[in-house]
Amino acid sequence: MSTVQELLHSVFGFDHFRGVQQDVIERVMAGRHTLAVMPTGAGKSLCYQLPAVAREGTALVISPLIALMHDQIRSADAMGLRAASLTSADADREQTVQRFKAGELDLLYVAPERATGEAFRRLISRVNLSLIAIDEAHCVSEWGHDFRPDYRQLRPLLDENPDVPRLALTATADKRTRADILTQLGIPQDGLVIAGFDRPNIRYHVRPRDGLNAQLKTLLATHSGPGIVYAPSRDKSERIAEQLSSGERRALAYHAGLDPSVRSRNQAAFVSSEDMVIAATVAFGMGIDKPDVRFVAHAGIPKSIEAYYQETGRAGRDGEPAEAWLFWGAEDFVRARMRIEEVEPNRRASERERLNALAGFVEASGCRRAILLRHFGEDPAESCGNCDNCLDPPKTIDATEIARKLLSAAFRTEMRFGVGHLADVLAGNDNEKVRSFGHDRLSVFGIASSEEVALVRPVARALIARDALRADAYGGLSFGPAAKPILKGEQELTIAVPPPRSRASRKRYDG
Ligand code: ADP
Ligand code: ZN
Repeated sequence: MSTVQELLHSVFGFDHFRGVQQDVIERVMAGRHTLAVMPTGAGKSLCYQLPAVAREGTALVISPLIALMHDQIRSADAMGLRAASLTSADADREQTVQRFKAGELDLLYVAPERATGEAFRRLISRVNLSLIAIDEAHCVSEWGHDFRPDYRQLRPLLDENPDVPRLALTATADKRTRADILTQLGIPQDGLVIAGFDRPNIRYHVRPRDGLNAQLKTLLATHSGPGIVYAPSRDKSERIAEQLSSGERRALAYHAGLDPSVRSRNQAAFVSSEDMVIAATVAFGMGIDKPDVRFVAHAGIPKSIEAYYQETGRAGRDGEPAEAWLFWGAEDFVRARMRIEEVEPNRRASERERLNALAGFVEASGCRRAILLRHFGEDPAESCGNCDNCLDPPKTIDATEIARKLLSAAFRTEMRFGVGHLADVLAGNDNEKVRSFGHDRLSVFGIASSEEVALVRPVARALIARDALRADAYGGLSFGPAAKPILKGEQELTIAVPPPRSRASRKRYDG
């Protein structure tokens, strides 16, 4: 029998293992259960494909998405592996089952819904399995960012096959999610293998959104090479593509609502292009292998730090310098917090925590990379030298006093007015609206100096991000749970001195 090293050359055509691949593969070869946490692009597929070839029997791969399975099968085919899937989209299911029973498959991909069914478990009991790979294993955890109840039902299937090595794989799992995956899938503590998460060639930048169109155009004008702009909605991805394509670079949209033929045409154009921009929803990127993406921009906040890491991780997979730009506004947090109120009550606490971690990242005045890496359980250097805050440390100011004044103004005006009105009250502008509500007679009227008034918006943004202020659908601000500690003087607020506002956005409050 060939050694794993020989198979690496002869079947996969690679010279060396990368990072933790060898550790993971040796564990699987030795029949031990393993959870491999490896960032996107680290080469997770090889970790089960190679043992699938080297070990007797068929590797069962649990995967959440048909599109992912089909991508994997295409690349397995290309290397001469015998791979198939059993999904609603496969017309040849009958034939696949026959090949599986006859031991003619190296890899069989199934979705968790199918894998957990009685019929499938009976089928499995008559076949020799080399391993069970559980891809996107964070889906098993309620703490993960993409919980799927079907993953929870996998345990009986695993326990019915106790001698088959389990290999759970994920790119994104914080400490708690990891612990949960181990428990849920019956993998011992010492089965955890973590690859380094750092992507040193990616330079991180985070900016308040301030005339997005102009900000994106500047980005395009100063950064060559292919780029992805992630938009928060389908509409916005189309609007951004349209606005950007008026410049010199070609820009196309990509989202799940486009006609499939348009979608795959736009994707193909991007993959083969050297300077195109694709304005996409997060539907774009999974399973796309384009190593030379030079920048990834976010037009609004991502879902979580995990999602941000994964989405920005699509930049610079060739190891050459690449950039990540995040443009955020307070209304992104407003919307995200409203959405949290709509999820099942028992998941709200973890969703809030996830959003607070993200707020900490965008609001930070210290090293961005350090925050990301600490989030993934690493112990990074204080400063990376390759993010906005390391390269150009922002001046920070203690904004506790103005924050208290703003919170008091919200309280005194019965917590239903927006930031513009509160700024007028604090500034002592006795305009018609202020007078008509009698707000010129409040104790907070005119208590802010002009320097403080200039900081009301960035302070409001910071307070909204950390859930001290909450905005209703009309922008009316009321207290969130983090308001009290600031008012009582138990918690201080430090903010980065904001860059001067551009002319385009000065008139309007856009976060
Ligand atoms: P992941 O699933 O972790 O995002 P993939 O399994 O898709 O990553 O692998 C990413 C890329 O790295 C693929 O193009 C793959 O062929 C390549 N790759 C994987 N392992 C190696 C290796 N040992 N040497 C060179 N290239 C590798
Ligand atoms: Zn840094």
